[in-house]
Amino acid sequence: MMRLDGKVAIVTGAASGIGKRIAEVFADNGANVAIADLNLDGAQATAKELTGKGVKAIGVAMDVTNEQQVDAGVDSVVKQLGAVDILVSNAGIQIVNPIENFSYADWKKLMAIHVDGAFLTTRACLRNMYARGKGGSIIYMGSVHSKEASKLKAPYVTAKHGLIGLAKVVAKEGAAHGVRANVICPGFVRTPLVDKQIPEQAKELGISEDEVVKKVMLKDTVDGQFTTVDDVAACALFFAGFGSNALTGQSVVVSHGWFMQ
Ligand code: NAD
Repeated sequence: MMRLDGKVAIVTGAASGIGKRIAEVFADNGANVAIADLNLDGAQATAKELTGKGVKAIGVAMDVTNEQQVDAGVDSVVKQLGAVDILVSNAGIQIVNPIENFSYADWKKLMAIHVDGAFLTTRACLRNMYARGKGGSIIYMGSVHSKEASKLKAPYVTAKHGLIGLAKVVAKEGAAHGVRANVICPGFVRTPLVDKQIPEQAKELGISEDEVVKKVMLKDTVDGQFTTVDDVAACALFFAGFGSNALTGQSVVVSHGWFMQ
């Protein structure tokens, strides 16, 4: 596995869950890491933990839907850590509801975090990567829902499919600058985002929480297992460390076989 010694990574939504584990694994592999999150206390706590591993790490307050905060946040990372080599656009939320009950406000909120957030963070990082001329790696946190649909998740499925389109455009535009773009598509991972959904889906579908896990979330996996934050972080390390444009514009599904390409 490639190491990331001396590289600078920005991981959005890394105060918790999948993003936090990616930040830890990047630091274990020598990267200096900026934790960009709405939750500044959580971001700073993660950064403090990472500095104990002997790398530089900072917490940055960032709402990925706020153009000014994203631009200022990326500038501040470049000032403090010297560059940006890797972006993991990971911040996300989930809201479940059947389409006929989905409020337009919730639709727009979810699309803003997943799609606008990916665009704004990509644009800010690309500007720095292009100016510096040393290439880079952009990784989007997609989902099995980038490939497949589920009931109750209209904006999430729409947004996650959209990230594959964005990655393909960034792959084409970024190639001349040595910038690669790829998407990781995890199955269900036990994080706060999923723990919140279990009772909500049970209520909406009229089944028990245990049935939501076994009959909805893990039903189509090959072994009834959750994907783990370690599984997803290993994929992120692979994409981050891959050294050429041979691997760009791709999406990899890590889901215990729930979805097979
Ligand atoms: P999580 O709730 O544990 O963490 C999400 C983080 O994003 C939190 O720290 C939160 O503060 C941050 N965040 C939310 N809105 C933000 C905003 N506007 N700006 C900046 N930060 C913001 O969730 P997770 O499960 O670790 O999810 C991370 C990503 O992985 C999401 O994009 C999610 O869609 C994706 N994903 C999760 C699963 C899963 O099963 N958990 C599966 C596939 C994909």
